[in-house]
Amino acid sequence: MNDVPDFKINDQWIVANRGKKNSVDPQKPYEWLVEKERTISGKIEDIAIIFLTNRECPFRCLMCDLWKNTTDESIPVGGIPAQIEWALNHLPVVKHLKLYNNGNFFDQRAIPEEDYGRIASLVSNFETVVVESHPRLINKRCLRFRDMLKPELQIAMGLETVHPEILPKLNKRMNPGDFKNSVDFLSKHGILSRAFILLRPPFLSESEGIYWAERSLDFAFNAGVECCIVIPVRSGNGVMDLLRDRNYFSPPDIRSLEKVIEYGIQLGTGRVFADVWDIGLFSSCSKCIGQRTSRLIEMNLRQKIIPPVKCSCD
Ligand code: SF4
Ligand SMILES: [Zn+2]
Repeated sequence: MNDVPDFKINDQWIVANRGKKNSVDPQKPYEWLVEKERTISGKIEDIAIIFLTNRECPFRCLMCDLWKNTTDESIPVGGIPAQIEWALNHLPVVKHLKLYNNGNFFDQRAIPEEDYGRIASLVSNFETVVVESHPRLINKRCLRFRDMLKPELQIAMGLETVHPEILPKLNKRMNPGDFKNSVDFLSKHGILSRAFILLRPPFLSESEGIYWAERSLDFAFNAGVECCIVIPVRSGNGVMDLLRDRNYFSPPDIRSLEKVIEYGIQLGTGRVFADVWDIGLFSSCSKCIGQRTSRLIEMNLRQKIIPPVKCSCD
């Protein structure tokens, strides 16, 4: 690991290094799409994702760029259900839905509880609904939402890394114990959880990045999550670019992502997915990037290790 410098990693420093937000329309989600995902039952099915335009998350995690598509102020009561209704009218009929709000579904200032009933009624034809939340915002509000919901609820939470020195540097204001307590709370109440895990956060070498992503998978599954998503860390939020310029951060290689996904799948404990969004950022070899991307997508869908790509860059 590179020496961790004596940066004062805090909200002010992270925010001071940001660029401008994108312009978003509070009347509409900022994106909506359908992708394929392997379900818990092993079928490959379409899942719709609605990226809600919502108030910026109150946390300021070092690696996060989700603030770019958020508003400064809360969306008035009724605004989030209206966005969902708008998106559902523009999406094909599918069985599964992710409602991502670039923050925490259970943050009252993001999605007011007064909206839960209308949201539940809008999504009643789905089989599963996935929402995201910081582990420290998991509480009885989740149960109240779940009790109104016909589809099965799954909650996605960022574990990020269990590296004992790096997790505090991420400014996530959480420790692995908080994550485990939240998974326990959800499991006790019959709600499934999934974990976001970072591949190569700042201050780690490539091999350390792999090692700690694998330990984080171990921790998440031992804690009781049903599914893990491994996210290769990128720059682009201002502060990560600064760390990159000063050699405290390098994005991971796609081959490391392949290794970590192979590791997670062979555990056989739950679903393990690679985040392949903008995956071209993580390869410098134009000869094999296409094959490696297809391999990751195939492993995501089949949850089986498939033969490796052979290339002169190995
Ligand atoms: S809790 Fe999630 S959305 Fe909020 S800053 Fe951290 S990573 Fe970003
Ligand atoms: Zn190659």
